[in-house]
Amino acid sequence: MVCASSERLVFYSATANPAKLAEMRAALGHRAEILKRPEATGEVEETGETLEANARIKAEAVQRAVQGGDAAGRGLAALADDSGLEVDALGGAPGVRSARFAGEHADDAANVGRLLAALEGVPAPERSARFRCVILALWPDGRELMAQGVVEGRIGALPRGEGGFGYDPVFIPTPGNRTFAEMTLTEKGLLSHRGRALADLVLMLE
Ligand code: IMP
Repeated sequence: MVCASSERLVFYSATANPAKLAEMRAALGHRAEILKRPEATGEVEETGETLEANARIKAEAVQRAVQGGDAAGRGLAALADDSGLEVDALGGAPGVRSARFAGEHADDAANVGRLLAALEGVPAPERSARFRCVILALWPDGRELMAQGVVEGRIGALPRGEGGFGYDPVFIPTPGNRTFAEMTLTEKGLLSHRGRALADLVLMLE
């Protein structure tokens, strides 16, 4: 084990998204504790050109905040995730720009609206897409582990479901017909890019 507290891994989360944090906690279960993102982290600009670069920017911002704060937490790793949706009919867009697809501070509804508008008239067989996730665990001494996960699927014609966040109401993982937003946290975690990246991370940690 790389960094344990009472035999249990403890991380600082780099995400400010409570839905993402809930997914990460559910996926890691009893194997690790994920503390909330330190307040001192502040706004982090995701200026990287790749998911890996943005995960690193977020993890480093958290480590800077942790090193400037509570001594008890200084040895812990920061756990950062960056995800992107690649739509084949859009040449792989929005990809690393998924959060800003409808503009700099676009919300989920605006991003989904822009995606559906961009795919207007595109028939179901040509709406293939995938989510990619990169997870970086970064320790203060520079040690790190990077894990990745991918889930193939397609973009539905209309939003469906109340769960999840982001593009979940329009992403239908393969195989099946339900969007991520129509699944429970556990169901999504078993299939999703984030769930797969976390499973990969757990294997590395063990
Ligand atoms: P980030 O990884 O938080 O930067 O997310 C990039 C964009 O993808 C944001 O618009 C998120 O809402 C969206 N996104 C990330 N993960 C998921 C997911 O699991 N389901 C749906 N949308 C997601």
